[in-house]
Amino acid sequence: MTDRQGDRLADDASPGRSDRAGLTRRRFLAGSAVGAAGVAAGSGLVSGAASPSVAAPAVGAAAATAARPAPDPLELLQRMIRFDTTNTGKGGNTLEHGRMLLRLWTDAGVPAEIIPTPVANNVHVIARIKGAGRAKPLLFLGHSDVVPVERENWSVDPFAAVVRNGEIYGRGALDMKGANSASITALLRHVAQGARFDRDIIVLTDCDEEAGEYGSGWLAKQHWDKLDAGSVLTEGGWFLAQKDGTTPMLTSVTRQDKVYFNLDITAKGTATHSSKPDRSPAVVTLSRALVDLGAWRAPVRLTPVTREYFDALARATDDAALERALRLLLRARDRRTLERAAGLVEKRSGYPWLHTALLRTTHAFVIEEAGYKENVIPSEATARLNCRAVPGGQKPREFLAQVRRLLRDRDVTVTLATTPGQSEAQALAALDETWATPPASVDTDLFHAISQASVRTYPGAVFTPALFEAGTSLSPWRKKGIPGYGVYPYVIDNEQLVGMHGNDERIRVQALRTGTDFMYRVFDRFRLR
Ligand SMILES: [Zn+2]
Repeated sequence: MTDRQGDRLADDASPGRSDRAGLTRRRFLAGSAVGAAGVAAGSGLVSGAASPSVAAPAVGAAAATAARPAPDPLELLQRMIRFDTTNTGKGGNTLEHGRMLLRLWTDAGVPAEIIPTPVANNVHVIARIKGAGRAKPLLFLGHSDVVPVERENWSVDPFAAVVRNGEIYGRGALDMKGANSASITALLRHVAQGARFDRDIIVLTDCDEEAGEYGSGWLAKQHWDKLDAGSVLTEGGWFLAQKDGTTPMLTSVTRQDKVYFNLDITAKGTATHSSKPDRSPAVVTLSRALVDLGAWRAPVRLTPVTREYFDALARATDDAALERALRLLLRARDRRTLERAAGLVEKRSGYPWLHTALLRTTHAFVIEEAGYKENVIPSEATARLNCRAVPGGQKPREFLAQVRRLLRDRDVTVTLATTPGQSEAQALAALDETWATPPASVDTDLFHAISQASVRTYPGAVFTPALFEAGTSLSPWRKKGIPGYGVYPYVIDNEQLVGMHGNDERIRVQALRTGTDFMYRVFDRFRLR
């Protein structure tokens, strides 16, 4: 960042003053009342002023260049959520959502295109903000598809984008339309200010991330020229809060993802008439094995990446007991102490599910299949376990061997799910390779941009690189050695985190606004003027 660019943001650390300015401008522009949650909820509201702190200079600059003002991040997120882009496994309908984005980009003077896939209405959108070409492009990757909903378990319509008590509800609010809205809004603010970047900035709004064949891997094969970049930013690192659920505690950027694989546990029995059951039906045999597995957890394995993360967490937390547990974990020399310390960390952490996942290979019971008719006892029962290994920690092949040992007396078979025609040995070799992929460098322009934006936006929090407990669509770039990182740029609490792929998915509106400021600062690093 140049000194001059620093000046552009130099006075943005005065929340009281700029909050008032923001409110005044919102009223002025939209003529709308401020909602009960302190949030302007009117639709069609446009202004950089939606960001109280960063956008103050945006309005003047935008007016000077007569550019179209950037959207409001909440209003854009609401528009995104209202397109039902559910991906049930065979692609989602992302076309109308894509057309909306296309209009947004082209109205701002940014060239954009829709890339169809072989599945009707399942499309990618690529926008490219032309830069000075001084470095390879920066690519923001944000999927537009979402996972299905258990509608009956939501307290609101998952596609109505309801704002309640300061939170925006909807499928994708967190994963990852919220991140898309923050990033696209931040870029459009820059564009409205007449920004010129030192490199092209590509925004790929991909489909088939949650499932399906035509995601970023397919797209990279078809159109690599459109996706070639020097670094990539997508979903990943969490911005965690202290115990109060809102005070920023730890901001993390992920530099690697856990390694994804599936195991099938299968029990056999005798298919027969249900009037004459025998004593070892497949369903019962399977259930016994699952009870064993449900009570068991893989051993804790720390890596340099997770050590750095837990060390940062120890410095960040205001909970002395959690800090002690983390110090014990990091100092542990033997397995017993390590496991005991990990148990204490999970107990004290405000985000126990997340922190458990960062400590070890996880196994989640996701699909169970057995039986099809009331008067037939099925001959087979199967459960699928979705597993995620820590890269550089326990290898998937070690985990598989451990599960087989654990269940050796249970009369079940444990198989690694493979692609058609692939042997177990081949699948394990491929997993070894993914497991050994080094984390993205912490010495790139993008990493520095994220680090600097974190410190400036969340000055009271500790910033750290991290491991993502889930997966992303970064693999086409990672395979080519292009550094890829992840952030969800809004502070969330544990309940919101659990809503990811769950019920009542939501984020705080204020966290979205601050996250938009954060993304603005990330992109600001690449600005020439
Ligand atoms: Zn996602």
